[in-house]
Amino acid sequence: MNPIIRFQNVTKRFGALTVLDNFNFEVQRGEKVTLIGPSGSGKSTVLRILMTLEPFQDGLLETDGISYHEPNGRGPFKASEKHLHKIRCNVGMVFQSFNLFPHMTVLRNVVEAPVAVLKMKREEAESRATELLRMVGLSDKKDHFPSQLSGGQQQRVAIARALAMRPRVLLFDEPTSALDPQLVGEVLGVIRDLASEHDLTMLLVTHEMRFAREVSDRVCFFDKGRIVEQGEPERFFSNPQQPRTREFLSSIL
Ligand code: ADP
Ligand code: MG
Repeated sequence: MNPIIRFQNVTKRFGALTVLDNFNFEVQRGEKVTLIGPSGSGKSTVLRILMTLEPFQDGLLETDGISYHEPNGRGPFKASEKHLHKIRCNVGMVFQSFNLFPHMTVLRNVVEAPVAVLKMKREEAESRATELLRMVGLSDKKDHFPSQLSGGQQQRVAIARALAMRPRVLLFDEPTSALDPQLVGEVLGVIRDLASEHDLTMLLVTHEMRFAREVSDRVCFFDKGRIVEQGEPERFFSNPQQPRTREFLSSIL
């Protein structure tokens, strides 16, 4: 079966800093994969490249059969708008810092992209948004503004907003790192429910190891732009093979 995500020899530099050096990585359709690793190792860069928020210098990226590539380092690749549009419709992303539109109500935050990007009828988008807000437990907040919500509530809106585009791939970049500890559980609960959706592909960066163990099909330890070690979570956490993986796990557990 073709993977839904395929990085092939992707090189990404910021000036003189090489963050990804011939990076190879595949995710299968419906797979739930967690990336863990030290700060600055390039995890967010991987997600941002997938979301087309970052260009890269060399290699090829394929997302749901749409490829995106840069032949041999002729500067940052600029894909056509049509091409980027297709990828962005297939991939959703939830950020550490929520990134809701502050001047829009919760409902409008969720309705806006399907109307503007997918050209969905507003009534249809609203009824779907209402359903999604119910799913994340926020039916009673739809007319509030983001600033009136707790961090956990804002993040749940951000998840509903990403789902409103019906993405095939959902990316989470440390979705609970900015939250007070007592608010982490409500966000993980929503992500856990999503992880039971067979067709949805999920790529999650997190420091919540117990959660990673529970929801992932595969855990990848990422360091200095490379996957050092990966495997099925039970094996990965109980018997890590590489010294760097062990060192990292003992530093955070
Ligand atoms: P992680 O998410 O694992 O903490 P990042 O992907 O954010 O790591 O960053 C990887 C490296 O790239 C870090 O050294 C970071 O400082 C650098 N970096 C990230 N974004 C930029 C940028 N826009 N400009 C320059 N350097 C960046
Ligand atoms: Mg990061």
